[in-house]
Amino acid sequence: MGDFQTVARPQTLENTSIEIIHETERAKVQHALFDFDGTISLIRDGWQSVMVPMMVDILLEETQTDETPEELERIVVEFVDRLTGKQTIYQMIQLCEEIEKRGGVPKPPLEYKDLYNNLLLPTVDKRIAKLERGEIEAPDLRVPMSLEFLQCLQKRSIKRSLASGTDVEFVRHEAGLLGVASYFDGGIFGALREYQNFSKAMVIQQILDDFNLTGGELLVVGDGSVEIENAKAVGAIAVGVTSVENNRYQMNADKRGRLLRAGADILIPDFRDGARLLTYLFDRGQ
Ligand SMILES: [Mg+2]
Repeated sequence: MGDFQTVARPQTLENTSIEIIHETERAKVQHALFDFDGTISLIRDGWQSVMVPMMVDILLEETQTDETPEELERIVVEFVDRLTGKQTIYQMIQLCEEIEKRGGVPKPPLEYKDLYNNLLLPTVDKRIAKLERGEIEAPDLRVPMSLEFLQCLQKRSIKRSLASGTDVEFVRHEAGLLGVASYFDGGIFGALREYQNFSKAMVIQQILDDFNLTGGELLVVGDGSVEIENAKAVGAIAVGVTSVENNRYQMNADKRGRLLRAGADILIPDFRDGARLLTYLFDRGQ
């Protein structure tokens, strides 16, 4: 942010849904890094409605707490939301800490993560099956116009990479089903069982090193504060996506606020004005 001005009040690019929060140096971007869930994919939409009740049940069953389910839900919603964008394991590590705080003896975090993945699987599989049977179309499970945005970047010879806190094998499979996998010529990265070997910050650093880029030559696009903060830490241009997610907990009620606080330079609801965003980013004098 340092060298660039914060626009006093966010400005909307004329006749678009694009909000400019900070002026950035333009026409330099060579590489774009995308988050997956909530940024491109809606296959896992609603995952919070699986994770939160699972954790509340575990806290009730595996500890002696006298908190009510409602009180526990508030606590779980807070940390699940705060840790969104990091690998799922970090939400499970926090769960383990909450179990310990209440006098319980937690299982290893990976066991809770496997349990969560198994609980979420039917939802994901149902959507995938419908997709394969043609009952729903791939565009219905993509954030609007995300594929078209990737195509526009390709036309401009901007490299594209993907980094997700979801396990990498799921991300590869789901990106394939959504018809976007082949667009990530810079690589598809995701969570690993050896979780210390992956983070979005690590992927960002690797891209800067591998492609010999300065921060300002990288565009980071995501709907979580984690990737926006990681982007700003290296001086990349951060585009926050205020996509609508379905969950029972109003978790995205303040998505815009959180992306702003994380330091997003630009906010978009989805990619409906993606072509215009690229004109703004690449064509001087626009
Ligand atoms: Mg996301």
